[in-house]
Amino acid sequence: MILTLPMTPRSEYQLGYWLTPVIGDILRKRTGQDFVISIGTLGMRNIDAVFIKNFIEEVSLLKLRCSFWEDTSNRGLLSDRIAEVLPLFRLHNQFVECWVCNCGALEIPKEQARFLKQKTFYISNGKVFCAKCKQEACLKILDRVSIFFPESQSQEILDNVAVLPGFYLNEFRELLVQFAENGICINRQRQTGFFYQQYNIDVEFVWETLLSLLAKKEEIVMVVNNHVLRQTLISILLFRFLGFTNKITLFITPYISYPGKPDKWQVKKLLELGHDENTVRFMLAASLCWREKDSGLYVDVSQVEYRRFSLLRKLTQQKILEKPVATLISDINHQNLLQGLKNVFNVQKFDYGKLSGLFS
Ligand SMILES: [Zn+2]
Repeated sequence: MILTLPMTPRSEYQLGYWLTPVIGDILRKRTGQDFVISIGTLGMRNIDAVFIKNFIEEVSLLKLRCSFWEDTSNRGLLSDRIAEVLPLFRLHNQFVECWVCNCGALEIPKEQARFLKQKTFYISNGKVFCAKCKQEACLKILDRVSIFFPESQSQEILDNVAVLPGFYLNEFRELLVQFAENGICINRQRQTGFFYQQYNIDVEFVWETLLSLLAKKEEIVMVVNNHVLRQTLISILLFRFLGFTNKITLFITPYISYPGKPDKWQVKKLLELGHDENTVRFMLAASLCWREKDSGLYVDVSQVEYRRFSLLRKLTQQKILEKPVATLISDINHQNLLQGLKNVFNVQKFDYGKLSGLFS
């Protein structure tokens, strides 16, 4: 089974948002395994059915073939799972000085603000701001509850997961050290709709139990971007903690950055400008430099002559490679796509099987 971490619908979608599902879809085509996208709306303040409808519409514009798993329709299952998982841990609670904001999205320990990735917050002129409501954060003492995984399990966890590219192993090891020292905080001060004892359980933690709900007996292939390594690792730790032994292969994509204004790179706008799902997939795949943590979007597609591009599509669709999953996706990268384009009139010079599955 191929899956992504829960994806939160947005009001508009930039191209990079769809990179992990596009990779998931290529893997589906190459391996014949099922591909599931989970839609996460439980963390949203105002859940609007239109958001989900637009999300599914966008998936179909990109011709991704997958099934959906919606967290809101499975609220009961998730609550039950939390009620089963948390009694297995001893909870540690601590009063910690945290940065908080009025909208409730921001809640991070003062100590951690220095080294955490600036996703839910940003620092400007030495002041901390919430990325969501843009208000300046203030310090407050919060009652935080953490769990700790058994040390023996933490040490073995990475032996049983194929992490690709391998250099992310070091970041995972650092995270494991942090988890062993500080634990994993599982509660939020604001209401989340999930409770354990007197605590509101963080929706992110609820999502991290998802693997155990979706997994059957087969191998699990996860595609995530490198901004969610923490969530990915906790998901895997919980999965193993609950006794699941499925083989796990983890693909970690670079983060895509855009030239100029990011608004220009919305999928709907690109389609209006004459792109189609194939050129959009090409742009994403040709941006992939697996050895980099950040990749700039490959925008030169407008300069690729159409005949060459059509031939590339045709050639990649003719061949299907049979290879272990772990080696399948590293071939889809900037260098191979440009080599493939260059040699479309001399096909013997390039193995087009390397790019199979790129276009469905
Ligand atoms: Zn806020």
